[in-house]
Amino acid sequence: MRYILHSDCNGFFASVECLHNPEIRNKPVAVCGDTDMRHGIILAKNEIAKKFNIKTGEAIWQAKEKCPELVTVKPHFDRYVRFSKEATRIYSDYSDRIEPFGIDESWIDLTGCVKSFEEAEAVAEEIRKRIKYELGITVSIGVSFNKIFAKLGSDYKKPDAVTVITDKNYKSIVWGLPVEDLLNVGRSTKKKLNSMGVFTIGELASFPYPMLKANFGKWGDMLYTFSRGLDMSPVKALGFVNLPKSIGNSTTTHRDLVNFEDAKIVMNVISDSVCRRMREQSLCAGCVTVYLRDTTLTTITRQCKIHSTHISSEILSAALKLIKNNYNFEKPLRSIGISLSDFKPDYEPEQLSILRDEKSRKRQDSLDQSVDILKKRFGSFCVRPAILLSDRKLAGFSPKEEHTVHPVGYFG
Ligand SMILES: [Mg+2]
Repeated sequence: MRYILHSDCNGFFASVECLHNPEIRNKPVAVCGDTDMRHGIILAKNEIAKKFNIKTGEAIWQAKEKCPELVTVKPHFDRYVRFSKEATRIYSDYSDRIEPFGIDESWIDLTGCVKSFEEAEAVAEEIRKRIKYELGITVSIGVSFNKIFAKLGSDYKKPDAVTVITDKNYKSIVWGLPVEDLLNVGRSTKKKLNSMGVFTIGELASFPYPMLKANFGKWGDMLYTFSRGLDMSPVKALGFVNLPKSIGNSTTTHRDLVNFEDAKIVMNVISDSVCRRMREQSLCAGCVTVYLRDTTLTTITRQCKIHSTHISSEILSAALKLIKNNYNFEKPLRSIGISLSDFKPDYEPEQLSILRDEKSRKRQDSLDQSVDILKKRFGSFCVRPAILLSDRKLAGFSPKEEHTVHPVGYFG
């Protein structure tokens, strides 16, 4: 039997902000994208704000209508990184197999350290208390025999709680939950499952496997193993980074791209999806490759080295420069693509440059991270650069969510 914990910091950004400003601790607090601008958006909120039905992603003015006394604060990502590291330090007293999932969640594998769910629960309780007293924030922890159910457990009761999902009780706890609570079941999978009459995880687990396979292909295997508690994926050791060789997307557009402006619109969309995937894996890229195929099906690829970065605007401008310098649009383009490579982990120390405006880069970095949070929750269309409104049809696809693009293989 495996014993795996999933620990999730409750209202992480807002909790950390409240610790830094104790005077707002007992008030409704929301961390907002940009409080100086009228268009600021809620990124996170504390428990008190939650009671006013404040939602992540809504505009500040909407939130203030529901709760006029709402205190809004700016995000401080450096603080969140520090707290995240402190939490990991506490986890590492119990296991060396700790796999972070985003900035405020981690799996901790206790297999071999404990011999029963009771012992695993006792460790979870100890971690919950230590985080509360040593860091001043609360976590909710799920204890189970696989990563997927452990994650469900940390969502099940919160804040400041422990939920144990064993091989004996998982049917009564997990199977009544809606399918979209399962990891990796996004809005499009949920929609498709619902249309097939599958609403709960239990219904998914009893759905005939061949039909899942026929409807979802490889994704069907995942749905099958996840819902039945058969996921065997290991918790990776702390510091383990499986660096991918490249991350890329390419797309064939619904009409030919006749000039640089057209290419710019499509490149905006695919570069954004590729950059988000890179940041999800906490990576920086040192090389950008663009792929251009014209209407006669002739393909060229061009690449350039860049100063290692995960900032969307820097990647995009490198890609656009490659297109500008290498293609004259005598023949229209049929498909274009971008691929990033030469990765290194983004938490490695880097050489600051006197040639770059590091202050504005840091701002850009925070902006990217804020937008990533929104897109993860509300889909790729929730925040978009204005250029994408100039040709909605050309820009109206979401490679990251819809899997409508060709995989990296295209570059091979
Ligand atoms: Mg959280």
